Amino acid sequence: MKLINMMAVATLLVTATTHAANNLVPVAEKTQETATSLRDKAFKDDSAYEILRSLTTEVGSRHPGTPGEKAGIQWGVNKLKALGFDKIYTEDVKMNGWVRGIETAEVLVPSYQKMIITALGRSKSTPEGGLEADIAHFETYADLEKAKDGSLQGKIAFISNRMERFKDGAGYGPANIARSKGHELAAQKGASAILIRSIGTDDHRNPHTGATSVAMGYTQVPAVALSNPDADQLVRLMGYGHTPKMRLNVQTKDLGDIVTKNVIGEITGSEFPDEVVVIGGHLDSWDLGTGAVDDGAGVAIAMATAAFIKNNTDVNPRRTIRVILWGAEELGLIGARAYAKAREADGTIDKHMIGSESDFGAGPVYGLRSSKNVSAKAIHVVDTMAGIMGELGVSRRSGDTSGGPDMMPLSALGVPALGLMQDGTDYFDLHHTPDDTFDKVNPDHMRQNLAAWTVFTYIAAQWPGSFK
Ligand SMILES: [Zn+2]
Repeated sequence: MKLINMMAVATLLVTATTHAANNLVPVAEKTQETATSLRDKAFKDDSAYEILRSLTTEVGSRHPGTPGEKAGIQWGVNKLKALGFDKIYTEDVKMNGWVRGIETAEVLVPSYQKMIITALGRSKSTPEGGLEADIAHFETYADLEKAKDGSLQGKIAFISNRMERFKDGAGYGPANIARSKGHELAAQKGASAILIRSIGTDDHRNPHTGATSVAMGYTQVPAVALSNPDADQLVRLMGYGHTPKMRLNVQTKDLGDIVTKNVIGEITGSEFPDEVVVIGGHLDSWDLGTGAVDDGAGVAIAMATAAFIKNNTDVNPRRTIRVILWGAEELGLIGARAYAKAREADGTIDKHMIGSESDFGAGPVYGLRSSKNVSAKAIHVVDTMAGIMGELGVSRRSGDTSGGPDMMPLSALGVPALGLMQDGTDYFDLHHTPDDTFDKVNPDHMRQNLAAWTVFTYIAAQWPGSFK
């Protein structure tokens, strides 16, 4: 025991000497000790899980322009107050609203069958009562690209390829083009609608909604997603040589100009109050579920982390911890873009020292990686964070990161970011479906997230060096 202690002291001394020689600002021993004891205490703390329970139960879904979103914003302000944040405010963001109404699909030929669908974000309506058309099948987006322009008159273009399951969600990007741009391509080919297999990894009759490439107004043709079993059914039907005829009825509404909000809470820095560490999640959700894994979990983890640090330290950390509950992420990072633009304009962007967003579900954190613009002189700090997170099953990972979707506009302006990589193996079973509900979340995982986020946030706010 004693020998090990002596070796530990020797290692610390060597590290300190090396850091001095390289002009590195060390992570003080006291800071490491505090981060370690906060980690152990957070690992037994259910506050993130309880915040998530409240949001998903007392509010529910939070789609921009709906009463649910309004209630979510009020909930955010009230909860930040109840958690004892030093400063709480909201920032208005103008946007264009869109909501779904009726959405039904039936196969009429060769036999009558109801299909489970949902409209994609900003889908245009079909004519009232729906449209009837034959299905033209394409296995992939690339296959639809090969069709002659204007050749799909009077048809519904159907893209059937399936998203692959990976721990890090690597299957999402390649599958997603059908959702985002399928409507443009279908219109170019003359089709009257685009039907895609849901971008999801489950086998339930739950369709997955999600954004398209459209920022305001409507898609070029009605755009809908079939649940995975329904997509399989349609493909099997065509395997028998049938050309299915479908009746598709989608009614949606452009809400025109609406206002969303970023909800912000701060733990004021005790030495450098104008220097900011940004953490957060997005407060909006799709309308089908209650936004538990996307992204109530991220909201809860960020709020709980900052409050936990404040309530378990005698003095606030040196820098300000700014928790941002981002508005309208799902419709195109609308709150995040407005926030970054405003900070670029008022010059406070340089005071954003580092940031990260939790927006990949409620699975445990397994990796820590840093963006390429984290200075070589700060890499040892990230290594130290990863070392302290090691007991939680977290290891240091290579590669770049934007720090999460809502961090992208800040990253683009040079703000360093860390990625706390979560196990997303099951994330796309639930993502953007009616099944995204609180019961799917494991409280052990929420405690582990709280512990990992506490280590990152505390050290980022307490270490006096620069990450840039
Ligand atoms: Zn999300």
